Amino acid sequence: MLTGMQIAVIGGDARQLEIIRKLTELDARLSLIGFEQLDHAFTGAVKEKLDEVDFSNMDALILPVPGTNLEGHVETIFSNEKVILTAEMLMKTPDHCTIYSGISNAYLNGITKEAKRQLVQLFERDDVAIYNSIPTVEGTIMMAIQHTDFTIHGSNITVLGLGRVGMSVARTFQALGAKVKVGARKSEHLARITEMALTPFHLNDLEKEVKDTDILINTIPLLIVSASVISKMPAHTLIIDLASKPGGTDFRYAEKRGIKALLAPGLPGIVAPKTAGQILANVLAQLLQDDLGKRKGIIK
Ligand code: NAP
Repeated sequence: MLTGMQIAVIGGDARQLEIIRKLTELDARLSLIGFEQLDHAFTGAVKEKLDEVDFSNMDALILPVPGTNLEGHVETIFSNEKVILTAEMLMKTPDHCTIYSGISNAYLNGITKEAKRQLVQLFERDDVAIYNSIPTVEGTIMMAIQHTDFTIHGSNITVLGLGRVGMSVARTFQALGAKVKVGARKSEHLARITEMALTPFHLNDLEKEVKDTDILINTIPLLIVSASVISKMPAHTLIIDLASKPGGTDFRYAEKRGIKALLAPGLPGIVAPKTAGQILANVLAQLLQDDLGKRKGIIK
């Protein structure tokens, strides 16, 4: 339980509602900032304006997945209020107050460092990345169906990268009956790809390996699907680039060659905001309970 904990949830989208639901169920007291247009009321949660918040009470601040932008602006879809998080606000919080976000940037790193507060980036955690790979794969299947006139079953799929997303993508497309090959650079990844009964290849051979690809799914966050790789693909190949912006594809060249290439960021929040929110809510609930337990001396 989170009885006695005071937490500010600052901005966000539908995913934050699952977090609010979970934390109020666990008996935390919540200040909701940037939610005044939200019709739903949660017992134990009070909507407040940023300038009304008493930061000196806060045990934790929860930001949306992107954190802030480079000017400190926190995105919120449930409010017209301009929400800017500053180092001065963080300095008013107690020393133990932890800031949670999905990812971070120079601004958020800077103000948390200046205020000497701990910042936890949930998307850096393996468990969150692995759970999130589930809705990411479902979104990838949706895009593959929407943008092709052939079945996934029986088609040649090339997956780049065997990280948390790449592994889930490769396994799921294989289960749908596709012929899946996976490109990686580490020998242990090539071994794992073989163990999974998929076809491995070294990324050095990428140009050779794309010659019969129907759908290429990239998870490597660097320019790997270059013009020279794209020039070797069949004209009907669909590229779905899952890597974080700006992706790993030369989109300009793909367009010039008439190859459909789609950058597909944020699929969990698009195809399954409820599940994506629950993933974050469950991990946050655990982290907050651990934090409370440590401060009460329950967990050593
Ligand atoms: P990950 O576990 O870190 O996997 C990244 C993969 O890229 C690994 O296979 C890694 O191989 C490879 N890689 C990285 N740098 C490389 C390089 N220089 N050369 C060759 N291979 C390289 O990350 P993830 O959780 O799977 O996420 C992958 C990407 O998808 C990230 O950009 C993430 O932000 C994004 N993502 C997108 C969505 C969406 O909705 N589109 C959802 C979740 C995540 P090594 O081990 O050899 O480095």
